[in-house]
Order: sequence, then structure tokens, then C-alpha cells
Amino acid sequence: MKQTFKLGTIGGVPVGLNWSAVVTVILIADILAQSILPSAPAGARWLAALVTAALFLGSLAAHELAHAVVARRHGVRVNSITLWMLGGVAELEGEPPNSGADLRIAAVGPATSGAMAAVFTAAWAVAGAFGASPLSTASLAWLAITNGAIALFNLLPGAPLDGGRILRGLLWRRRGDRISAAHAADRAGLAMGRAMIGGGLAALLIGGWFDGLWLVLVGWFITSSAKAEDRWTDLREAAADRRIADIMTPHPDHGWTWQPAGAFIETVALASRQKVFPVIDAGGGPVGVVTVERLARVPAGDADVTLGTLAVPLQAGRIVGPDEPATTVLSYPPFMGDLIAVVVADHHLLGIVTTENVQMLIRRSRLRLAIPAATGRAA
Ligand SMILES: [Zn+2]
Repeated sequence: MKQTFKLGTIGGVPVGLNWSAVVTVILIADILAQSILPSAPAGARWLAALVTAALFLGSLAAHELAHAVVARRHGVRVNSITLWMLGGVAELEGEPPNSGADLRIAAVGPATSGAMAAVFTAAWAVAGAFGASPLSTASLAWLAITNGAIALFNLLPGAPLDGGRILRGLLWRRRGDRISAAHAADRAGLAMGRAMIGGGLAALLIGGWFDGLWLVLVGWFITSSAKAEDRWTDLREAAADRRIADIMTPHPDHGWTWQPAGAFIETVALASRQKVFPVIDAGGGPVGVVTVERLARVPAGDADVTLGTLAVPLQAGRIVGPDEPATTVLSYPPFMGDLIAVVVADHHLLGIVTTENVQMLIRRSRLRLAIPAATGRAA
């Protein structure tokens, strides 16, 4: 989820808004002002509606922050928290180390929303007892009910909702197998999302309720997220017990920092299947990478420019060792062309890991899965 507006950093985690969250705030403020809040002068009603919508957004942020804090406590890095049209997303890097951590990271979100519901209910009761304006008591009541609804909705047992992660944690604990637990939660999410789309369409087409569209939208979001999570589970399954050396392209074509671009294109790039080339220095270690696109932009008169000048420096995080687990590079997006990482041992280039290597890993794992099934059918 892209952060359109940055709100600030809380505990080192950048918190921001996607543009679609602004649409939600305006929509909610509009609904509050037009049909939920009691009659009052228009200015006061709109002010109360906007403050309530902002507090609602704050409640969503609190829910995600709770996930982030517990994740960090269990050693899972949190890259960002982004609020968008249908809620919040805490982007975690890596996986919870055990089923207990998985359960706690998931459960603290709905627990926080439930606690917010309790706080707003108490505030509502106090405001009522002290004779506060109907506008503020109505706002507090709406916030209490909405937070309660968010807690319950997120407890639905299917990925990507918190309830799906709780299900995954429980199955993981019982079966001792994270992968099969994750697949079960993904399937539950897929079934739930499809039921929501079906129910929403029925409400829209048969019942004539326009609100059915929201259910279709939420169902579509859950279905596509569950599918994406299932692909991710497949990938982790395929990479389990494998080392970087097992999945990399060994002995990749490469250039030298002192090599003129023209000579490199003629002798290496034209004959290569690669789209990105590591560039190594006199010591034999890779210092940068150069893409086919970059080489293609070199003007004919500049054929003498060296690869060292053209190369984009290699970030330290993208240099990996051959014996590291293959799962370390799976969550990395490609950083240049299709290149994910450069494999180095003793300051020497051993290989490269590209998106093609990762896709190959998945294809081979599917082939392996097909073998026992085929013999089973024959017997
Ligand atoms: Zn959550």
C-alpha cells in the first residue's frame, strides 16, 4: 500500500495515509453529518462529524500500532503502517518465530479495537451523566459501536484478517507445521471472501440494496489478499531447507570496473541471456551492477566510458552468501531490472539471484508435488 501522505514516525515506524483513506474520512464525515448525528447548527454538526471521522482514523492507527509493537517485541521488523479505504495495513518484514508469537501479534489488533470500544463506551456514559451535548454523546456512541464492529469483523477466521492469523497460529501450534496451517487459513479466507462477494451481489441484484456493493468490495479485497498470501506460502514452502547456492544462477556474465562499455557490449552483453550484469573491481568483488537498458543508452561516441562509471553501486543488503537460507531473499523486491541479490564468498562473485530464479523455484516445487500424486493414482 502506497503512502500518499506521511503523518509522522512513531517508534521508528513511518505512519501514513493512502489517498483512499481521505475518501473514507470524507464519506464517513458526510454520513455522520447527514444521517447519524442529531440536528444541530450545520457548522457544529460538520465539525463534530469531521472530528469523529478523524478519531475513527486514529482508532484504526491504534489497532495497527498494536500489531506493530507486539511484532517488534518478537523480533519481526515493521516497515510501515498505512491507512487506506478499508482499514489499516502494518507491513511486517519476515515471519513470526513461533506459533505463540503469531497468535499474539494477530490477537492484539482486535483486542485493541475492543479496548477502544470500551473506552468510548465509558466516555459516552460519562458524557451522558454530565449532560454533554447530544452531538458529542452521539459521536462517542458511534465511535464505541464502530470500534466494536471492527474488532468483530477482524476476528472472522480467514486470511488476511486477524482472525485468519489467529486460526493459523492455533493450527500451527496444534500441527507443529506452519506451512499447512498457513494454507488452511488462506483457503478459509478465499472461501469467506467468495461468500461475501456472493452475498453482496445477491443483496444488490435481488434485494436491491446498494450497500451490497460494499460487501462485494470487501469480499474482493479478502479474496485477492488470500490468493496473494497463498502464493507467498507456496514460495516459502518451495524455499524451505534450500540455500542461496541452490537457487542462484552460478557463474553469471559480468564486467570489470575498468572495462569500456563498447567492448563489454560487443564481447559479453550481446551474447548473454542476462538483463543485469554485476561489475567487479580489480580485487574480484562485485561493486555495482549495470543493466541492458543503461548500456543501450550509452551514445555511440561514448563507447570508451568504463563500466565503473555506468554501474549503480551495490547496496550492502543485496550481497548475500551462498550458504544463507534461500528464504532470506524471497521478500526482497528486485532492485535493478530483475536482479534480487548478488552472491559473494571470500570477496568473489559466485552467482546472482533474479526473479526468474525465484519463479523456477516455484515451478520445480510444483513438479515435485506432482510426482507422489501421479504414482498414487497409478497404484
Ligand atoms: Zn489487525
